[in-house]
Amino acid sequence: MVKAVVGANWGDEGKGKITDMMAKEADIVVRFQGGANAGHTIVNNYGKFALHTLPSGVFYSHVTNIIGSGVALNIPRLFQEVKELTDRQVPAPNILVSDRAQIVMPYHILFDQYEEERLGGKSFGSTKSGIAPFYSDKFAKIGFQVSELFDEERLSEKVKNVCETKNILLEHMYHKPLLDADELMETLREYREMVAPYVADTALFLHDALEEGKTVLLEGQLGTLKDPDHGIYPMVTSSSTLAGYGAVGAGVPPYEIKQIVTVCKAYSSAVGAGAFVSEIFGDEADELRRRGGDGGEFGATTGRPRRMGWFDCVASRYGCRLQGTTDVAFTVLDVLGYLDEIPVCVGYEVDGKVTKDFPVTTKLEKAKPVLETLPGWKCDIRGIKNYEELPENCRKYVEFVEEQIGYPITMVSNGPGREDIIYRKSPLKK
Ligand code: GDP
Repeated sequence: MVKAVVGANWGDEGKGKITDMMAKEADIVVRFQGGANAGHTIVNNYGKFALHTLPSGVFYSHVTNIIGSGVALNIPRLFQEVKELTDRQVPAPNILVSDRAQIVMPYHILFDQYEEERLGGKSFGSTKSGIAPFYSDKFAKIGFQVSELFDEERLSEKVKNVCETKNILLEHMYHKPLLDADELMETLREYREMVAPYVADTALFLHDALEEGKTVLLEGQLGTLKDPDHGIYPMVTSSSTLAGYGAVGAGVPPYEIKQIVTVCKAYSSAVGAGAFVSEIFGDEADELRRRGGDGGEFGATTGRPRRMGWFDCVASRYGCRLQGTTDVAFTVLDVLGYLDEIPVCVGYEVDGKVTKDFPVTTKLEKAKPVLETLPGWKCDIRGIKNYEELPENCRKYVEFVEEQIGYPITMVSNGPGREDIIYRKSPLKK
């Protein structure tokens, strides 16, 4: 069977930790979209790791980790990450790379930088990993599939053509150094050497694995609100962050996805530009940022301070709905233990009307948060294993959020480690 682990919000909800934890019971973990532009932070018996491209199953030797066709594959980054693991005594992970995955080219990264430079103050806050130029080229049908690396003649012809068109933009629009087709071919030969042992028809591999009754985990990157269709367009990422897309980006039948675990963090954080209704500022935000996550809310890829906010029931309810949530994993609850009172955003006021339905971007930009304040629990909840042992106000917070979002919170995460998890029976679980 297939399970998906996805984000309800802007990303950084703690999907890496939940995937690492669930991977124990899985045979295969698949990354189905996105690239090295976001990171999952994982804390386990080997230490603390930031994964960008590798699936979060890499810490188990029984797991096969797949880079699906929907991923923006940065080949040198992938192997650099593998090296970071093996340098720190993690056994070399089992990896398969889809022969249909497309390659992030060095010029995608350059174009990402140049375009952000050109946009100046109006930039998207891109991580400059080449993701938007990569997906633009994929859908403009001038991308490079991994399989194309193995057809030298075809490859060199395509490289020449692509360099020609890219050089027009480089010369006349960005006024930057031009691409050299021979140099690019050399780079691609190096990529071929690196990736060759791992390339496979991964959709076929998954098909066979499912026939044999294996368990597959689809690991999402970012969250619903960064989805190009259903998120806060245009301040979104360039590939779908939804579990539904997991079927496409991995190459499995949609009806095989039986469990969709949507990860929600107990407060909000966001990176990059765009409307963020429950955002907080000043000392209040600084303190939450400093205490947040595991060692502060700073980007796993860029180190940038994340924007902070209270839990947003409107955005999370919407985020869970679009994912098709069967279970909510409610994470980083331990961090809120310092607060006397905890504001929660329960509605948006748009043009004088209060709504609980997440609006389109034009309206979202005008939305003001409607807050309700809950009492804090003022203690450290790390180490607690049973839901009933959580302080009453803490349980009330979980139950309030569950009622507001309307999806069952069946897991509560109270620390960054694998074992910091409380399973809960939810009245909403069908
Ligand atoms: P992802 O991209 O969704 O995987 O999220 P990130 O890894 O970027 O951010 C989550 C951060 O919170 C990481 O530093 C995790 O180690 C940490 N984390 C995850 N779950 C918990 C939790 O329950 N409590 C605490 N304190 N930290 C957590």
